[in-house]
Amino acid sequence: ETTLDIQQIRQDFPVLHQEINGRPLVYFDNAATNQKPQSVINAITQYYEGYNANIHRGIHHLAEQATAAFEASRRAMQEFLNAKHWQEIIFTYGTTDGINLVAQTYGRRFLKEGDEIIISTMEHHSNIVPWQMLCEEKGCVLKVIPVNDQGELILEEYEKLLTERTKFVSCVHVSNSLGTINPIKTIIDKAHAVGALVLIDGAQASSHLEIDVQALDVDFYVLSAHKLYGPTGMGVLYGKKEILDSMPPYRGGGEMIKEVTFAKTTYNDIPYKFEAGTPNIADVIAVKSALDYMAGLGKENIAAHENDLLHYATEQLSELKGLRIVGQAAHKIGVISFVLDGIHHQDTGVILDQQGIAVRTGHHCTQPLMHRFGIAGTTRASFAVYNTRDEIDRLVQGLCRVQKMML
Ligand code: PMP
Repeated sequence: ETTLDIQQIRQDFPVLHQEINGRPLVYFDNAATNQKPQSVINAITQYYEGYNANIHRGIHHLAEQATAAFEASRRAMQEFLNAKHWQEIIFTYGTTDGINLVAQTYGRRFLKEGDEIIISTMEHHSNIVPWQMLCEEKGCVLKVIPVNDQGELILEEYEKLLTERTKFVSCVHVSNSLGTINPIKTIIDKAHAVGALVLIDGAQASSHLEIDVQALDVDFYVLSAHKLYGPTGMGVLYGKKEILDSMPPYRGGGEMIKEVTFAKTTYNDIPYKFEAGTPNIADVIAVKSALDYMAGLGKENIAAHENDLLHYATEQLSELKGLRIVGQAAHKIGVISFVLDGIHHQDTGVILDQQGIAVRTGHHCTQPLMHRFGIAGTTRASFAVYNTRDEIDRLVQGLCRVQKMML
């Protein structure tokens, strides 16, 4: 059990205190996006109320204040990921945007026909489609690491895929559908041994696990703020400085240039080279509040509480007849995907919602993984720091009701 005062923590999240369909809300859709503490919400309104201004080019007071807050967020992210240089932190619109940036700049510039890119069976569509688009354009070949029945990557098969033709490996840190924590240090080291670069999709990992990009020696690491108790439509691409320096720019426009003439344009240094246009200033500023909030609780305390919920939920759900948990990896975060015999996941989701319980149903943007398990989708409950064992009891009762109504 946890040392955190969960009831106190719940007070920090205004959205939790409401009734849905006459019952207190149980929010178990945290893998899709988690809720925001008051301090994050305040950071956004304080910017718009107090110092809204465009950043970097202004010399007036508000512009300087906004720029300082924006760049303070970059330093906070640098610390959060333990990046060596602040220039290695690129603000994006999220994980999807970060992966597309790397595929469209590094990929288009440096990958050639016949080069091989390795991804895995458990990737989110955002770590599949950008590589397929690149393969279509450049004639690269996509290879896929298979998954075992527990929902873990089969590393011996990964090793067989690695050859001198492998130029890039892009793999998820934690599966959004199953909760599996992948052994990314091993994946990175083995890719480097054949000279391939590695991108890790940290969308699900970053609010649960410590991330140290230097210790991992990872080339690119991407995440989304909205899964970190922060705002939506905002994220980070970490990249090693010398690699980012070698890459062509992504979008053209303001901020990403040094000098523009009709004869020739020179590009700005990183990180600005990759940050064309007015960014999502308020939300970049607010992400620092989210990181401060998590640091205040302690990531290891958050993880310990979520682990307790995972074990309790696994135990309780396993008692239900006709329920099968999909993905039983030895190393998991607080995500449980399951199917109910004879009941469509959509019906499960609707009947739980009638009882005020928010879960996600469907393929979770991982259709190939669902195909691997021979299912169309699952019902997924995913936990955050503010969830409780009582709420898991509500889920179990809710599922009994689903079975009573549907069977
Ligand atoms: N990868 C994983 C593992 C995810 O869970 C998600 C979000 N569901 C994404 C990528 C995409 O993140 P975003 O929609 O914020 O770009």
